[in-house]
Amino acid sequence: MVRLVSASLLFLSMLFPAYAENAPPNATLIKNVQIFDGHDLITSNGAVRVSGSEIVEVSLRPLAAKAGEKTINGDGRFLMPGLIDAHVHVSWAYPFSKRSQASETYITALAVANAEAMLLRGFTTVRDTGGTDFGLATAINEGYTPGPRIVFAGRTLTQTGGHADYRGLSDPPEPASRFRFGAVIADGEAQVLQAAREELRRGSGFIKVHAGGGVSSPQDPLHVVQYSAGEIGAAVLAAENWGTYVAAHAYTPQAITLALEAGVKTIEHGNLIDRPSARLAKEKDAYVVPNVVTYWALDQGEGLPAYLKEKNKIALEGMWNGLAILKEENVKIAFGTDLIADMHAHQNREFILRSRVFTGLEILRQATSVNGGLIALSGPLNAYGKVGVIEPGAKADLLLIERNPIDDITVMAEPEANFAIIMKDGEIVKDSRRAR
Ligand SMILES: [Zn+2]
Repeated sequence: MVRLVSASLLFLSMLFPAYAENAPPNATLIKNVQIFDGHDLITSNGAVRVSGSEIVEVSLRPLAAKAGEKTINGDGRFLMPGLIDAHVHVSWAYPFSKRSQASETYITALAVANAEAMLLRGFTTVRDTGGTDFGLATAINEGYTPGPRIVFAGRTLTQTGGHADYRGLSDPPEPASRFRFGAVIADGEAQVLQAAREELRRGSGFIKVHAGGGVSSPQDPLHVVQYSAGEIGAAVLAAENWGTYVAAHAYTPQAITLALEAGVKTIEHGNLIDRPSARLAKEKDAYVVPNVVTYWALDQGEGLPAYLKEKNKIALEGMWNGLAILKEENVKIAFGTDLIADMHAHQNREFILRSRVFTGLEILRQATSVNGGLIALSGPLNAYGKVGVIEPGAKADLLLIERNPIDDITVMAEPEANFAIIMKDGEIVKDSRRAR
């Protein structure tokens, strides 16, 4: 894809030397648009200039195109930053029932299709919190296959019997560091330190640990606290020495508090958070990455194990209360979905589910500028540049939407009909504009 584009530009610049002089690759002016810059609606008729893979100019008033610059007339449509999903599992796209046939090639084939589908749902950046590694992320960056840019944790770190220990009761004990469904079993500070360093060596943008029970794992009840302060601290040490941070899967106030006190910067899920643990998150300037849609989808799902259904009910009911507390305590609330197996198609339903607690503007900020701040936590390991905002120097990841979703957030739930243009890195991925 990338190669085709650069080849055609080379051809153009041979035919029209002025093109090469005046307009760099992907020089595009998007005009006559409402602009939501990731924070607020800043104009009802502005323009954005893109050069190469970056935004170079944002104008609150109409702008004229330069020579050789491609013009997109937005006709009054709504322009916003490409969406960021801060909690996904791109490579867990195979159904629960197919687990026994999930070889690495099968997993990858389904992950490739899943990545493209995410991009077409408007997600230009995703943060993969377990299961995806440098292979898929690099293949997308190199233009071999379409998808969002992926900031990945790699394999997650779990204790024996922890949330990512998927062994059944009759499965034998395993040596540490054995790969299982995108996780490493590591116990004790020394093993955790080594496992974290191994993931960083393999290019992970951050480290993910499991600090408490979870829904999809068979043995650990939700209330269980996992890892000691010393073990989580070992992961934090490895991550901070490498210039990045640790994310922790945690539902209960006990697990959330343990993780935050040990130096974790993002709490994943946080369903059962209470006021003191929410205040601690605020005090530590940590992000909480809630996700409603996966619990909603699991609740609808059929043929799932009984343990999963039971744990999911508690998690779903707790989430509504958790979201209200997070909002009242003014914690940094990211936008995540956490869909797994064959449920990814529901990704944009998260916008609608959140509207029970948040305004349309709040949800759009979560999925753009707030998540952009979270992505930036990876520091030097985030080699992808600034995302989630429309401003000079940010990545040219843009959505041109048929109607203003601030007033009607349901617009976001139907990307196929409503997202007229999807641009990633200055390249148009989709253009379905109709005359208006
Ligand atoms: Zn997850």
